[in-house]
Amino acid sequence: MFGLAVVGAGPAGMSAALRAADHGLEAVVIDEQRRAGGQIFRRPPQDPTTGTPRPTAGYAWATGLIRRFEQDPRLTAKFGWSAIGVLPGGTGPDSLGVAVSHPRHGARQIAARRLLIATGAYDLPVAFPGGRCPE
Ligand SMILES: Cc1cc2nc3c(=O)[nH]c(=O)nc-3n(C[C@H](O)[C@H](O)[C@H](O)COP(=O)(O)OP(=O)(O)OC[C@H]3O[C@@H](n4cnc5c(N)ncnc54)[C@H](O)[C@@H]3O)c2cc1C
Repeated sequence: MFGLAVVGAGPAGMSAALRAADHGLEAVVIDEQRRAGGQIFRRPPQDPTTGTPRPTAGYAWATGLIRRFEQDPRLTAKFGWSAIGVLPGGTGPDSLGVAVSHPRHGARQIAARRLLIATGAYDLPVAFPGGRCPE
């Protein structure tokens, strides 16, 4: 069982997981994307010839955070898994189960003592009939 489950591997989730590990928590980070970075640091695919990761566009400092996150042996990352629910009592009264789903591997539960949700936010543009942009 993990001490902390973090949903989201954007800058917030990566930072939280690293900080939690510094405080002795065994953290698992779940993200439905294939790599860490989230919305703002979303990374283009690796260079197909060299296999080396490309830097995040315009955010060179993000590379350090991503590298620390990816290379930290204290952290467990579950990429490609979507968190779809939270169930009480994952393995006992002091735990919860994060229900996760993967397109190929199906559904599972990840037991943790605590949950941190760092799933970011989406812009939701809403169109109004007859609306006009100010000139
Ligand atoms: C169109 C757009 C443009 C932006 N432009 C800028 C800009 O120019 N400059 C700037 O500073 N900020 C910009 N932002 C804001 C910036 O993206 C956010 O401030 C920042 O990404 C928030 O970081 P975060 O870690 O909180 O969340 P995110 O970076 O959003 O990370 C959340 C992570 O959670 C994962 N996730 C979500 N739901 C689930 C789930 N159910 N299961 C598993 N994983 C899940 C996502 O895959 C994602 O990786 C922009 C945002 C948008 C949408």
